[in-house]
Amino acid sequence: MQVIILGSGSPLPDPARAGPSTLVRTAVGDLLFDCGRAVLMRCAAVGSGAGAIRGLYLTHLHSDHITDLNDIFTMRWVMSLVPNPLPVFGPIGTAALVQATEAMLEPDIGYRLAHHDDLQWRPAATVTEADGGVIFDEGSVRVTAAPTDHAPVRPTLGFRVDDGDRSVVIAGDTVPCAGLDELCAGADMLVYTVVRRDLIEQVGLPRLTDVLDYHSSVPDAARTAQRHGVPTLVLTHLVPAPAPGTEQEWFDQATAHFTGDVVLATDLLTLDVTPPRRR
Ligand SMILES: [Zn+2]
Ligand SMILES: [Zn+2]
Repeated sequence: MQVIILGSGSPLPDPARAGPSTLVRTAVGDLLFDCGRAVLMRCAAVGSGAGAIRGLYLTHLHSDHITDLNDIFTMRWVMSLVPNPLPVFGPIGTAALVQATEAMLEPDIGYRLAHHDDLQWRPAATVTEADGGVIFDEGSVRVTAAPTDHAPVRPTLGFRVDDGDRSVVIAGDTVPCAGLDELCAGADMLVYTVVRRDLIEQVGLPRLTDVLDYHSSVPDAARTAQRHGVPTLVLTHLVPAPAPGTEQEWFDQATAHFTGDVVLATDLLTLDVTPPRRR
């Protein structure tokens, strides 16, 4: 199993960091977690795409995590020679989001249906809303969801992908919580969205400091990984994006609380999820 960080950025536009999105390459195909800004550009760089993904999993409906849902929805439809509904999994509210996305695209859908004689069907999605439990189970691959805590944003989910004896947790935006703990138990890798509390407090703007109470700091993420003995912690959704030369500060904040491997995500970073290390 491979984890590819498609977008390591946040809501703040950045020339080098696409919006939050992670691809998990499994034995049954590519699973996409969140679909932030420029997700399909990043997919194209790793030989994936809207038509190739076996499932789109949304951790929550904050705009930065769903910006390019419309792009995936359209490309999945218009680039396929046969009907190929997009499987979408997410928290309660996902069906309404997909419906609203389709409604937004109605003029475009009309243009394309009128123009392409061989395109005889509308774009479609099969939506599975969940509040926890196993939501995908095929061959050696299982995806489990659990509720996370990103209040006042509700509901939100974290996911765990098990492929054979390997496992990765996609935490999404959350503070440390019981649902995330449940997913992390025995996992091989934890991909965790983080913010730098110290830097945000220094700036002192209320609009920015507001984000502290519903995101995890680097030490929060590190303590979660340490608590469960997760061998590899991947920090992503970096707020603010690390200024060149400051990467070591991020590592130091993590390694003060965590004895495993720390990875600071960049776009298109590809990681093999190695078999469980006996500790
Ligand atoms: Zn969020
Ligand atoms: Zn976010």
